[in-house]
Amino acid sequence: MRGVPTVSEKGDRPVRLRPLLLPVLLLLFAAAGCGTPPPDPLTLEAPVELVTPTPPPTRRPSPTPHPIQSPTARPTATLTPTVTRTPNPRLPTLVSTDAPPPGTVDPALLTQVAPDAADHLPGGTSLIGRSVEGRAILARRFGQGTRALLLVGGTHGGWEVNTVVLMNELITYFAGQPEAVAPGLAIEIIPALNPDGLLRGRTPEGRMNARNVDLNRNWSCDWAAEAIWQDRTVSGGEQPFSEPESAALADHILFSQPVAVLFYHSAAGGVFPGACEGDHGSQVLGRYYGTAAAYPSDAAWTSYEVTGDASNWVDGQGIASITVELQTWTESEFDRNLAGIMAVQCELARRQIDPTTQRWVSVHCIGVE
Ligand SMILES: [Zn+2]
Repeated sequence: MRGVPTVSEKGDRPVRLRPLLLPVLLLLFAAAGCGTPPPDPLTLEAPVELVTPTPPPTRRPSPTPHPIQSPTARPTATLTPTVTRTPNPRLPTLVSTDAPPPGTVDPALLTQVAPDAADHLPGGTSLIGRSVEGRAILARRFGQGTRALLLVGGTHGGWEVNTVVLMNELITYFAGQPEAVAPGLAIEIIPALNPDGLLRGRTPEGRMNARNVDLNRNWSCDWAAEAIWQDRTVSGGEQPFSEPESAALADHILFSQPVAVLFYHSAAGGVFPGACEGDHGSQVLGRYYGTAAAYPSDAAWTSYEVTGDASNWVDGQGIASITVELQTWTESEFDRNLAGIMAVQCELARRQIDPTTQRWVSVHCIGVE
């Protein structure tokens, strides 16, 4: 499938690079603390008010520890549903009929999402929630920073199992090389947001969660109950965040306030910045990542309309976010995605003036664009 344009699930929103990148650059790196002498030279932290427009009080998480949801718990991200929309008739109908080859899921991946997986968590792992069928949604964290680059794989379950493989390879990499995380930063990886779908393998049913909802149509930016995937209608849920998987991740993002959130899908081969009524650093984040990982980042998604997209919602919360579409259904494309992650880290770290971070840059960022 390499080189063959395919489609999966990203939005139709045209991706346009803004003529004035500098303000966007400043916004992104303000989110990481640039331009403000940090109280601690080992941090990329900045005052929250520099990060973004403060979300409305009703959307802020409580300062209490994030609760672990029971399998039947209703979501706690209770954002206001938007009006159901009809598909935009102006959109082109160039929908690919390409489908990934049939495939099974590596048993090692299934072991990681077994219902009792949370009983024996390795260090640095946290349980952010549970799926409809009660499986653990785990996050593994590396680095000492209080704010993280958050990477999310497996939103579309076994249908896009190579994103789960990529996340697990990245976990192995950073576990073996913790020095690859920039000082003052953290990298947090959620390998499988949709563990129930992962178990169903590479089938159309495996894309959805156990209630047959598309988890990348269940967020509140331009949400619609009746959504589109390629040439078919799929469920966006009864309301935004009706599904425990998306609700758990939304709560986790609001509570932890990551520097940026990167969602991994396959296999359209491109980087698509999130956007919901403006841009909060996603455009420039996409350019850095796409350049280093050699994915196009300036192509507009016009295949079909996408409603309730996760990265769009994250950007709307004032946090830079991109969707990375791997180029294939079958490969993890590890090297190029590691290059993208390192490039983003380097751009954040270069704006820190403390000697520790600058030494890290001199070791890890030579030749990194
Ligand atoms: Zn996907």
